[in-house]
Formats: sequence, structure tokens, C-alpha cells
Amino acid sequence: MKKGILVTGSLALDTIKTDKDFAKDIVGGSVIYFSHAASLFTDVSLVAVAGDDFPVKFLKNMMQRNIDTTKVEIIKGKKSFHWSGSYEEDINEAKTLDTQLGVFGDFNPQLDHSQKDYETLFLANIDPDLQLSVISQSKAKLIGADSMNLWINIKRDALKKVISKSHILFINETEGKLLTGKKKIYEIGQAVLGMGPKIAVIKQGSYGSSVFYKNLFFSLPIYPTTKVVDPTGAGDSFAGGFMGYLTSQGCKINEKNLRHALAVGTVMASFNVEGFSLNVLSAITISDFKKRFKKYAGNLELSL
Ligand code: AMP
Repeated sequence: MKKGILVTGSLALDTIKTDKDFAKDIVGGSVIYFSHAASLFTDVSLVAVAGDDFPVKFLKNMMQRNIDTTKVEIIKGKKSFHWSGSYEEDINEAKTLDTQLGVFGDFNPQLDHSQKDYETLFLANIDPDLQLSVISQSKAKLIGADSMNLWINIKRDALKKVISKSHILFINETEGKLLTGKKKIYEIGQAVLGMGPKIAVIKQGSYGSSVFYKNLFFSLPIYPTTKVVDPTGAGDSFAGGFMGYLTSQGCKINEKNLRHALAVGTVMASFNVEGFSLNVLSAITISDFKKRFKKYAGNLELSL
């Protein structure tokens, strides 16, 4: 098997409104945030699609960070996925103003031989039917998945299949309530485990995040950065750090690796919220990460 992560999800142009700022058609998408974070720890390869309005140079630059973007399909004459969101009322929760699927409407992902062999697969937020198609082609031994309220509402059955085939589900608390019908964090975690995954990771915005694994439950607070500019991509970069770290540890699932992965994801997300788009996340190095990790986790030793 090939060491590294194959990731599918959205490549997007985002329009974002925060209480202080506004940005139009900036590079985003679940796959972009995830892969930048994960690439600090392991190789990443993308299976995704964009229209010819997406800046190809951005994808080329990602190659310098061990992110293989050569298999990304660019469809001429068609538009990329566009998402507009606002955080004006609550910084913890994006309000979707508009979603245009664009090229994702008829995307039929085809993995090539080498992509099938990655030992980790991550299904970042995208239509669960596409996630299922990628699962059916991959030989990965560790599968993580993410989703959101739109897909829980309109494609619940397909999403439940994705969840049942995944080892780790990442979901935020509000979406977890919608998915499971439960109200309390502990009940949501248990209900997710009842749907198939070995591990449930529940993100709770500025309150931090929690992991459920077997009969274990542990939580961490956020890294308290003072510069929150835009929370878009926090969940994806958190998952990228978490999955990237686990992959760097040979995909070994145990309490120690999960506790460390939770801390890694938390610190990664804190960088991401400090800028729009990939402005901050694409500029950080492993040594920037380690410095902040030490501040956050003191003497906790990561084997990197
Ligand atoms: P998050 O980590 O949850 O903040 O993810 C933010 C990214 O998700 C944005 O860059 C959006 O382009 C992307 N996104 C928003 N809605 C969807 C959707 N329905 N499917 C896939 N990606 C989406």
C-alpha cells in the first residue's frame, strides 16, 4: 500500500461575509483546506473537479507541498462549485447563503491505479454519492469522512451508507444533532458509533472538540488565537491535521494516537482561522506548527 492520503471533496470559489469583512470568489473547498493541513505530515493526492474559472496556478503551487493535484479534472466552459456563507450572527456557525454545484453536478470520479493504493482515504464534505463512488474504488485501510447539514437533509440514506463504511466520522455538534436526533454531546457521540464508525469526532466551534472511541471519551479546548478573521475551513483543516498525523503513525488507532491527533487538529484549525482562504494555512511550515503545538500542549511529545 502507498503511504499517504487520497482525499476527495469540494474545490470551490467562496464568497464570505464575516461581521467585519467580505471576500468574493476566493479559493476554498473542503479538499483544499484538508490537503494543506494534512500535507505537513504526509503525502496527499486529490480526486476532485473544477471549472475553468478556478485558478490553475493555485493547484500547481500545491505540488510544492507534496499535494498531488495532477489528477484534478478541469472542465472547460463550466463553472466551479461556488459557496456563499456568512458568519455575521454566530462566528461558530456558517449560514449558507448560496450553493452552486457547477461541475460537481455531473462529476464521476475515477481513481487511477496509484490512487486506489493509498492506505488512508478521506471523504471531505461533498455529495455522499460521490463519496460512495470513491470508497468503492479505494483499497484504503483507514477511512475518514465529513459532511454537513445540506447532505444530511437531502441525501440522508446515501450519507448513512458512507458513515457505515467509514472508520472515523467528523461532524460538528449542530449537524450531529440533525443526523442522530440526539441533543447531548455524549448521546450524539454514542449514536454516531452506533452507525458504524469506530471513532466519532464532534467539533464544537470555539468550545473545542471531543473524541468518542470504544468506551473512551476525551475533549480539548481550542487554541485561543486572538486573530480570528474567517472560520471557513476550520473543520477541514482540523480533519487534515488529525488524519495527517494518524497516517504518519502508520494509521495505528489507539488512545495515545487519537489524543495526539485531536491536539494536532486543534492547533491546525487555529492557524486556518487567522486569515481568509489559504492565506495563513498555505504559508505555515512544520516548524511553525511545532512551535505553536508546544505552546498549546507543553511537553506532549509528538513522534514526527
Ligand atoms: P468548513 O471546514 O466546514 O468551514 O468548510 C468550508 C468549505 O466547505 C468552504 O470552502 C466551502 O466551499 C465548502 N462547502 C460549503 N458547502 C459545501 C457543500 N455542500 N459540499 C461541499 N463543500 C461545501
